[in-house]
Amino acid sequence: MSNYEPVIGLEVHAQLLTESKIFCGCSTRFGAHPNQNSCPVCMGFPGVLPVLNKKVVEFAVRTGLATHCEIARFSRWARKNYFYPDLPKGYQISQYELPLCRNGHIEIESNGGKKKIRLTRIHMEEDAGKNIHDVRGDYSLVDLNRAGVPLMEIVSEPDIRSAEEAGRYLKNLRAILQYLEVCDGNMEEGSFRCDANISVRPRGSSEFGTKVEIKNMNSFKAVEKALEYEIRRQIETLSEGGKLIQETRLWDAEREITRSMRSKEFAHDYRYFPEPDLLPLIIEEKWIEAIRAGLPELPEQQKERFMSEYALPLYDAELLTSRRDVADYFEAAVKSHPNPKAISNWVMGDLFRIIREKKLDENLRITAWPIAPDHLAEMVRMIDEGKISGKMAKALFLEMLERRESPDRIVREKGLEQVTDAGNIERAIDEVLAGQPEQVSDYRAGKEKVFGFLVGQVMKATRGKANPQMVNEILRKKLGN
Ligand code: ADP
Ligand code: ZN
Ligand code: MG
Repeated sequence: MSNYEPVIGLEVHAQLLTESKIFCGCSTRFGAHPNQNSCPVCMGFPGVLPVLNKKVVEFAVRTGLATHCEIARFSRWARKNYFYPDLPKGYQISQYELPLCRNGHIEIESNGGKKKIRLTRIHMEEDAGKNIHDVRGDYSLVDLNRAGVPLMEIVSEPDIRSAEEAGRYLKNLRAILQYLEVCDGNMEEGSFRCDANISVRPRGSSEFGTKVEIKNMNSFKAVEKALEYEIRRQIETLSEGGKLIQETRLWDAEREITRSMRSKEFAHDYRYFPEPDLLPLIIEEKWIEAIRAGLPELPEQQKERFMSEYALPLYDAELLTSRRDVADYFEAAVKSHPNPKAISNWVMGDLFRIIREKKLDENLRITAWPIAPDHLAEMVRMIDEGKISGKMAKALFLEMLERRESPDRIVREKGLEQVTDAGNIERAIDEVLAGQPEQVSDYRAGKEKVFGFLVGQVMKATRGKANPQMVNEILRKKLGN
């Protein structure tokens, strides 16, 4: 294995979150009746003309700027010709030689350091419709709701060297798109799709090997698994003296293998040419600068800030900033009680376990958090102030989930408050000691073990509410006498 090095380049298609399609006014809303969102333009009727949606360009410029691309002041639309029933015009309007964005990069963490994955280009294009094949196999239906939905294609240079790096790149890219509010990043629903190009080469070689393109992966896990499988297959083939062919392969998620779909001889010739129905796209510098000025804080910057401002470890900062909704939640909680590390632990631990269990994560965005950020903050404050113990907090947390009320209120109602009044604790201890004379003398005779038993008795007598640290201290003092 280690004699070979994988070389990977990814092509991502991201559906843009515009209200309407790229060249007509039809809605982009998901889940409409079949063909409800269609009109003569996106159905490819003869004689109609496309009109560019300005928002699409704005979103692509935002993305280009956030990924350090050069934005082309002059770019062009192209026709990509192929025949398929979900493509009513017989061509897709895309960009070819002159894309909107070029020469960018995205940073990832790799081997304890930072690594730049270069972006070749980002261009805009329209999506195709969907064919629905009847299960009995005697007819197919065409739904054109998706035809003309705007896409960005983001193409990386072959800079990625492992399946893990590919996963990190995709997660960072998705986070950037989400922070920019240009794409929801949902791989399962297909609004964030990835094709992976992969080859292997002898370590130390400066030439690239024959590449294979893998399609049909609909989760981050699938991309990583498909790449791992393909790396193994290619290395095995070469080590056995075999040859690889340039081809497209499909990931079979059930069998966890890739299967050949088409080889280079059957590759499409798309006969690209400039789109005659649209003018070249000329963008004013002023507009680019206005878009730049409106960019939000990006995950990379936010991660650095979380580490410096809140003293969080890299692991926490990276996890919290992998999604904007999570980062926002965390910051809201910290604002009401500044104990970042404790809040981070609760968010990454208990809160996320509940979110997974209850499947509250729709479209990779949590719209209804099971616990409000200020309630979580209040609970952490009560722990910090010694009003409740960590153990009580676990129970309180569950109660908060159930009742969606403030922890303070629940604690008062249920009388959960920790007993920190020394007088009360002392009384409880005196009672226990009076009832256990034998154990007390055992302890005084040197049986250290008995101490734990006596603490347990005091906790029991106070129904678990006594502050354990105080019980320890007072009990030691009394037994010492
Ligand atoms: P094609 O002509 O097949 O479209 P491109 O050169 O445009 O190929 O590259 C498409 C994608 O494949 C890019 O993401 C690029 O980084 C990646 N790529 C190109 N060559 C290789 C290679 N030898 N091994 C792995 N990935 C590659
Ligand atoms: Zn339309
Ligand atoms: Mg290409």
